[in-house]
Amino acid sequence: MNKEHNKEHQKRNILKIVAPVLSGLLIIAVIILFLLNSQKIKSTARLVMQDAPDSISENNLKQTDQQSQIDPTDEHNSLEQNSLNSQEQNINQDGNTLHSIIDLSSISSEKTEKTISESDSDPANSKESDTSDPEKNQPGETTEPSASEKSLYSLVDYNYIALTFDDGPYDEVDLEILDLLNEYNAHATFFLVGSRIDYYSDTVKAIAEQGSEIANHSFSHPDLTTLSHEELLAEINLTNEKIKEYTGITPTMIRPPYGAYNDSVLEALPYPHIIWNHDTEDWRLRNANLISNSIENTRPGSVILMHSLFPETLEALKQSLPILYEQNYRFVTVSELYEIYEVPLIPHGIHNSPVDELGY
Ligand code: ZN
Repeated sequence: MNKEHNKEHQKRNILKIVAPVLSGLLIIAVIILFLLNSQKIKSTARLVMQDAPDSISENNLKQTDQQSQIDPTDEHNSLEQNSLNSQEQNINQDGNTLHSIIDLSSISSEKTEKTISESDSDPANSKESDTSDPEKNQPGETTEPSASEKSLYSLVDYNYIALTFDDGPYDEVDLEILDLLNEYNAHATFFLVGSRIDYYSDTVKAIAEQGSEIANHSFSHPDLTTLSHEELLAEINLTNEKIKEYTGITPTMIRPPYGAYNDSVLEALPYPHIIWNHDTEDWRLRNANLISNSIENTRPGSVILMHSLFPETLEALKQSLPILYEQNYRFVTVSELYEIYEVPLIPHGIHNSPVDELGY
């Protein structure tokens, strides 16, 4: 019993010594931890306090950098900066950030396209390119079908018109008209006055060789409605004989002078009587610009009345043919135009234009 009692007593003594030491150590540890934590909080607070003003000053520095990069004397940069600022304002105000930027960029790209297309259609540019490539603006040199194949053309592809010239032959105008027609792989119809043919026989031959069409405009240019049956036949037959003499071709169409006809005229002359649906009034205007305005105011399927006698008509054609060609117009004879529109030409009949007869 005593031994056991002694052991108990020793344990109690040890506890009495260790307990205060342990509690003391515990208190010290708690104090140390507390102190450490308070240090951390202080340092974190110090970091936060330091970061805040630094960020602001960095932003300020960035802004001053941007401003210093823009030369205030450079108007272009200032304008760009203004537009940037206004973009930013828009973004801030309505929040349509992407819309604002996309809209602006699409406008600028549209402007670029417009500038390009304008420069493409600039007549000065096209002139330059034409001169650099002399064959470019020579439709006669293209691989388009020949006159005999033109009836195979589709009306969907081209606008066809018939240029007609009355009162020739006259070398000074007609020969240049033929040159011009060649530039556009074109053919016209020349209604010749028989009494002039011996004087300008070379011109008559040139018209035939160029591939244009020759037709009959009487021998002495009278008002056919005033003539007897015999006189009517003489006017037409004499002229046909002259044309055949120089070209080997007997014309198949007539155009009554002044477009004047009546039942007696139609009955006496077994040919299609070709009038017109588009009168340029070149004989009255005698002004190239006014005549060309009239020519360019045409419509597909038209038969256009002009005259071989006036240099102004030639000048007008020089202005108008390139413009009409660009508008997809092609220039064919009266016979070809009727063939293309599949409208028959009737002997003793009156024909203004195939589109008129079709009711277009
Ligand atoms: Zn005439």
